[in-house]
Amino acid sequence: MLIFTENIPDMKKTNLFFVSALLCMFFCAVEAGAQKFPKKGYESITEERSRNIIGFLASDLLQGRDAGAPGGKIAAEYIVSLLREWGVEPFLESGYYQNFAAAKNGNNWITEADFDLSGLIETGCDNRIMSNILAAIPGTGEGYVVVGAHYDHLGVDPSLEGDTCYNGADDNASGVSAVLQIARAIKMSGKKPRRTIIFALWDGEEKWLLGSRFFVKKCTVLPEISAYMNFDMIGRGPAERPEHLSYIYSAGNPLFGEWMKSDVKKHDFSFVPFYNASDNLIGGSDNTPFAQKNIPIVWYHTEGHPDYHRPSDSAEKINYGKLTDIARAACLCVWRLATVKKY
Ligand SMILES: [Zn+2]
Repeated sequence: MLIFTENIPDMKKTNLFFVSALLCMFFCAVEAGAQKFPKKGYESITEERSRNIIGFLASDLLQGRDAGAPGGKIAAEYIVSLLREWGVEPFLESGYYQNFAAAKNGNNWITEADFDLSGLIETGCDNRIMSNILAAIPGTGEGYVVVGAHYDHLGVDPSLEGDTCYNGADDNASGVSAVLQIARAIKMSGKKPRRTIIFALWDGEEKWLLGSRFFVKKCTVLPEISAYMNFDMIGRGPAERPEHLSYIYSAGNPLFGEWMKSDVKKHDFSFVPFYNASDNLIGGSDNTPFAQKNIPIVWYHTEGHPDYHRPSDSAEKINYGKLTDIARAACLCVWRLATVKKY
């Protein structure tokens, strides 16, 4: 840029200097305190691994991953086996599982964090042990960032004609694949974040956010959580705009939008973000209990489709290239959430 300034009058040169200085200050503010995330970590997020994870989680063998049912428990064991293989350690001293009791009260499910369930369970209602999976990469300093997605889905419905199994490939094996690949990428990078990153795979979301609500109610470090990142359905897109990504974030944190804008300029992503800065991030997904505690949110979502909450939400319909790019972009964002001094 400066090569072409020789013939420009001094006044314009001065203006250019101030514009350059302002731009520099702006980008310094955007990245204040951030360490650059190494390319080898970022590139370790692959389309092939997304296919493997979603292919298994959304297979009929897992019977729709109903919370607390055998298929859900196999999904949990599989997720834990990957975390263990990659050396991503448990967050809790007791191990990867955060188990909790849940029971059906009329049409609603409640957990032991809401009420003492013993009287209800004695009535013979449906009751189960559900399990969040919590892993962590320890930070060098204080504070926490939580990166989460729910792994449960709707199970099977024998009353349906034809296919009875809700495979839940987009909802939400897609989100689980992103959380797992980001955990792996950061672990593989060998870099240490400033804040501890908690990777959370929630159970019981489809029964009204049971796992994430339980975590928030029981979390002893809640005041030290500086952000929550959520993935719920990131593998599809509206038929008329297949490249669409809803990038939803707390309106009080405009930097979250600037980070994405700067990454979109630098990388050839196959998605197009729609920036949605919102004051109200309550309802619909696991960001809700965090938003209710005024914790800043980033939420990736590629919108509904005709297969939503139907047995036809299957693995072969996922756009793996786009999903993998979303996981890569989110990995860069997680790294900033965990290393930028203030946002
Ligand atoms: Zn759902």
